[in-house]
Amino acid sequence: MTNEPDKRAWLRTIVDPLRPVARELLAASLFINLMALAAPIFVMQVYDRVIGHSGMETLKGLVIGMALVLGFDFIMRQSRGRVMQMVALRIDVEVGTRLFDKLMRLPLRTLESRPTAVWQQLFRDVETLRNTLSGATAILLADLPFVFVFLAVIFVIGRPLALVFVVMFALFVLLAWRSGRALNNSAQREKNVTASRDALVAEIIAGRGVVKSVGLDRAVRPLWEERQAGAIEHAIQRGAVADGYVNVGAELTQMASIMLTTVGAVFIIDHELTMGALIACNMLSSRLYGPINQLVGAWRSFGGFRQSVDRLSELFAETEDRTDSAIRFQRPSGRLTLEALSFAYEPEAAPSLSIDRIDIRPGGITAILGKNGSGKTTLLKVLMGLYQPAKGRVLLDDADIAQFSRPELAGWIGYVPQDSVLFSASVRDNVAYGAPGCSDEQILAAAKAAGVHDVIADMPKGYATPIGEAGSRLSGGQRQRIAIARALVGDPPVLLLDEPSASLDRQAEEDLRATLAELAKTRTVVVVTHSPVLLPACRDVVVLDKGHVAVAGPAGEVLPRLFGTRPAAARTAPPPHQMQARVTP
Ligand code: ADP
Repeated sequence: MTNEPDKRAWLRTIVDPLRPVARELLAASLFINLMALAAPIFVMQVYDRVIGHSGMETLKGLVIGMALVLGFDFIMRQSRGRVMQMVALRIDVEVGTRLFDKLMRLPLRTLESRPTAVWQQLFRDVETLRNTLSGATAILLADLPFVFVFLAVIFVIGRPLALVFVVMFALFVLLAWRSGRALNNSAQREKNVTASRDALVAEIIAGRGVVKSVGLDRAVRPLWEERQAGAIEHAIQRGAVADGYVNVGAELTQMASIMLTTVGAVFIIDHELTMGALIACNMLSSRLYGPINQLVGAWRSFGGFRQSVDRLSELFAETEDRTDSAIRFQRPSGRLTLEALSFAYEPEAAPSLSIDRIDIRPGGITAILGKNGSGKTTLLKVLMGLYQPAKGRVLLDDADIAQFSRPELAGWIGYVPQDSVLFSASVRDNVAYGAPGCSDEQILAAAKAAGVHDVIADMPKGYATPIGEAGSRLSGGQRQRIAIARALVGDPPVLLLDEPSASLDRQAEEDLRATLAELAKTRTVVVVTHSPVLLPACRDVVVLDKGHVAVAGPAGEVLPRLFGTRPAAARTAPPPHQMQARVTP
């Protein structure tokens, strides 16, 4: 046995509670299908009993009976519709929530390892799941067993025609099976090509500003054309295959009717069948072949459904970030230690970080320096537990951070990334996202500490100003400072900043330096920066080179060696015995 059934256990937890609903659906389908028998029998009676015998009374009775049947049928269909809506709602809510929660708990490396389009597809998979389990396909499945009821009725009222039905029935089943396989394969190929086109479009749209400004449209057009052509070609191929089978199905239906009438006529001439029975059988035949014909389309949705379930199963089986902490910690003091640590983006790739030891403690700013690609950003992400090291550990106040849940770590370690991503909401909400449930006082304090309060106050609606998609209505510097406020709002004991002054003007940079110096008095502040304004305020410096610590120590010692001058910070740096970041071999 593979572990496939276990992988799909989540689906059972969704589907099992729906069993009573399935029974309701089957019951409703039973009545609807029995009602469907009424019309052919009515027609048969009218032909055989009313027309031949001028039976007006019988006709009246039959019409009243049919009116009642139609009324009941309507009620049953309505209630079946409601049942299906309930199923749809349940799947949307339960699977949707589960998917969202799972995505939020995936480690950053897992999230980064697949393109955006793959993650978006999962939400469409929930729709596929809902549409299959609560739409026409589910109704078809519930109707399918009644095909045999119709077959049995045909056997009773048109026994001589049974052989024709059995042969045609077998032909329709064969058609449905063959077409299902063929369509599934071509639909799968089409989907792959369309997905690669959609991924390209998503990337172009996300980078639309750059596409316009750098004139990338000429460069990306051939790429788009190639993928669009592939998508069109596959769509045409699938369409041709589908049309072929639909046409065969239509011919087969006509053929069934002609054969039935021909064979029926022979039996009527031989007085083995009545006219009414032939007409009733003709009507019933559409009930018989209809669902099997629909199977052709349904097969495709089954294929899509299976793929969606597989994709979701794969996702739900992914390892999550820790959601509960192994030990309880009051607020840590913010001491960070890296020990014998190695981190690689891919298991077989050379490590992007290889560090023997770094000690970082509160009471001063630690600057991380190094050339592009030397591993500064990676180091920050490892420090905050976003990337799990392959070897070694990161300690926060002597406790391995691997023991803490992601939300807890996010509460203790504030982070301002290089490209601050904001969300389409108000300024207030964007700051508040840093610590859900925080008070307005905390938001104000954080905005003031980040030096952005005055800027916000000047905005048209102050803190309620909407900032547009990804903060597009703000300048780079404003976004940066709101991101700093967001990192500060929960008052974390550790604050990590990646090039925080890249989009700031000189004055804002000086303000930020004062803010960081103030914050660092009681916190651990680590900042990746080359800014001549920020560097002098740093107590310690760690210089990275190709993922290794090239040199580390008090700023007063390291910076003159790096820049050949003695920056202002050297005067305020602690004496050598307080050196925190140690040079490692
Ligand atoms: P820095 O911040 O010092 O410029 P980074 O930490 O961003 O450097 O990158 C360090 C190294 O890791 C670089 O060689 C870079 O190519 C590699 N790297 C960064 N991000 C990824 C990623 N998501 N996948 C694979 N390699 C990466």
